[in-house]
Amino acid sequence: MQTSKPAENKYQNMITFQSHAPGYWPTESMEKWDDYKWQLRNRINSLADLEKHINLSHEERTGIILSGNRLAMSITPHFMNLVDKDDPNCPIRRQIIPRMEESLEDPQEMEDPCGEDSHMPVPGLVHRYPDRVLFLVTDRCASYCRYCTRSRVVSGVGEQQLETQWEAAFEYLEKTPAIRDVLLSGGDPLLFSDAKLEKIISRLHAIPHIQFVRIGSRIPIFLPQRITDSLCNMLKKYHPLFISIHTNHPKELTTEVKAGLEKLANAGIMTGNQSVLLKGVNNNTETQKALVHKLLMCRTRPYYLYQCDLIKGSSHLRTSVAEGIKIIEGLRGHTSGYAIPQYVIDGPGGGGKIPINPDYIKEITPEKVTLRNYEGKEFIYPEPQANQVQT
Ligand SMILES: *Cc1c(COP(=O)(O)O)cnc(C)c1O
Repeated sequence: MQTSKPAENKYQNMITFQSHAPGYWPTESMEKWDDYKWQLRNRINSLADLEKHINLSHEERTGIILSGNRLAMSITPHFMNLVDKDDPNCPIRRQIIPRMEESLEDPQEMEDPCGEDSHMPVPGLVHRYPDRVLFLVTDRCASYCRYCTRSRVVSGVGEQQLETQWEAAFEYLEKTPAIRDVLLSGGDPLLFSDAKLEKIISRLHAIPHIQFVRIGSRIPIFLPQRITDSLCNMLKKYHPLFISIHTNHPKELTTEVKAGLEKLANAGIMTGNQSVLLKGVNNNTETQKALVHKLLMCRTRPYYLYQCDLIKGSSHLRTSVAEGIKIIEGLRGHTSGYAIPQYVIDGPGGGGKIPINPDYIKEITPEKVTLRNYEGKEFIYPEPQANQVQT
């Protein structure tokens, strides 16, 4: 009998949907567990809370103590249950537990790596591209990602404050007909109550030149309990509506997350995923492959894979661009086209998203393009010629 290969077992384990509830909260009732308000009230946000559940490394303990005036720590019980108790290299841990390396000074790093503050016609509204805007509606999230590109304002403990000028922002959108797409982000807009969120979306929906609204949110991953029937019933009044979620590792796609994403899909909402390429989290092809396959099973289309921004304190999480290109190469041709995100770098200082692709063109001349396919085989595509002989 042939024994199955370890690589296959690893893939099978990674693509299996699991629930981890109640995990570190064995005595909690499922009723409370399923209540997103309970999840928010019981977030882990201190060293003492965290040490009740898991064994911290020296780097983590120091990181938590030093993170106090940078970016708050906050972890929902749901997400906390994905953390491996004893493994300091757990890919979930590295995303949400501060590490000592966050206080390393790297002269390349910036407070505002995407140059957003210099592209705001109104505080809270980033207008960088001709036809769409990023509308920062809150500075709070359900949990905080250590590599947050907006840590200068997010979580409310840093030096800068997000001061969204609501009325001025709506007026700018109303009087700027070039804007056809508004992306609500922050912070996490799905932290708002259904009523508050509806007020914002309905006002945008009423502007004739705005063709659609989208929401950027990690709540489907950090707090899937928030994806309630009433939220979906409200959102589906405002089609077309897109939601961009953020997940980085296949373990994050639990049975609860899958149920939430299916609810959104059943309400007619299109979901896409934005991942960040992170060292020790998802910087290998097998993990990325399991992630994108699981996303498609949740009816979510991989959208972007971001090279980690040059945010202050992220050097321990950044990988080389060459590594990212290798991952895309490992996907293209080897799996469904629907599974492949566009790898991008947000041009440091305000360049916007720049697509990064493996090079499949070997040479272009006026006569022909020399290509290689995913297997490395060479192909020639002849260019149309003006002086072709008529037959
Ligand atoms: C990412 C981003 C958008 C949306 O870009 P898409 O490529 O259309 O998803 C819009 N505005 C800003 C400032 C952004 O950073």
